[in-house]
Amino acid sequence: MMTNDSLTVDKPRLRIGLIANRAHQDAPDSALVKLFQRAAKSIQALEIEWVVVGRTLDAIQAHGLLEQCSPHVRFPYGRDGGLMKLVAHVVNSDPHNSIDAVIYLIDPVDHSSIFPEALALKRQCVIHRKPFLSTLAAACEWLELEALAIGSRTHFTDTLGLDLQQESIALIAHDALKPNMLQIAEKHFALLDQFAHRYATGTTGSLLNQLAQKRKGEETGRHWVQPFLSGPMGGDAQIAELVLERKIRRIVFLEDPHVARQHEADIQLLERAARTVTDFALVVSDGEGSDRWLRLLSERLS
Ligand code: PGA
Repeated sequence: MMTNDSLTVDKPRLRIGLIANRAHQDAPDSALVKLFQRAAKSIQALEIEWVVVGRTLDAIQAHGLLEQCSPHVRFPYGRDGGLMKLVAHVVNSDPHNSIDAVIYLIDPVDHSSIFPEALALKRQCVIHRKPFLSTLAAACEWLELEALAIGSRTHFTDTLGLDLQQESIALIAHDALKPNMLQIAEKHFALLDQFAHRYATGTTGSLLNQLAQKRKGEETGRHWVQPFLSGPMGGDAQIAELVLERKIRRIVFLEDPHVARQHEADIQLLERAARTVTDFALVVSDGEGSDRWLRLLSERLS
């Protein structure tokens, strides 16, 4: 077990930053405990090296889960800069020091979840195309799909909700990423077509329906996606309500981290809705991550 602050190891392995807000740490059925229980086999298969922020590691130890969280590196407590250090390691290009993905089990009413370092952590993950997994459901499914990617199919548990015909998905893209969304939808059309319902913000939805009309014919394709209002006009909030009601479980939200966003509050609202139902909802925020996620989900289903 590595217990010092140095991340240098001989061979790079999958390195995951881990932090949980207080409400997700202490109870015997907290999200942190459920993560190690539900994803135990995937975690074992992936041979992860964990980089864990202070109090989260204390909680893991208190729950007797240190063995599952090994090897690990302890980062400082949040108040001493642990989260800030995670951001620095997400953007680090040295494979021996960088973090490949972040699991941040966020309690949306915990003030620290909207500290600048928490927002920067998410933003830098999107910029550097590293998965930012902020709900229990996202973390468990991502770990299982990555285990599948290394051939660990036998390790599957029943944590994936796999009946897409009973599920809905939301598809949203900021302006610069709308072409990327169309590419992804075209490539994974068959998978997306299996969902009971597809929802989108206004402009994204009408572009996706144009694509569907080409694929499925004018009449059938016209209503492939149900468009809500445009994001800046409140569409994100309309989708958030369905997430809170557990009617939309998966959200592909291709967000543009390089522009000022007048409806930032709405974007955050949707993310926070997903975190409110942490055991249920998943958000993927970048194109590469979405493509990989949908590909692995197809493999899992086949
Ligand atoms: P739009 O909204 O699909 O209506 O462009 C997306 C957004 O900008 O949030």
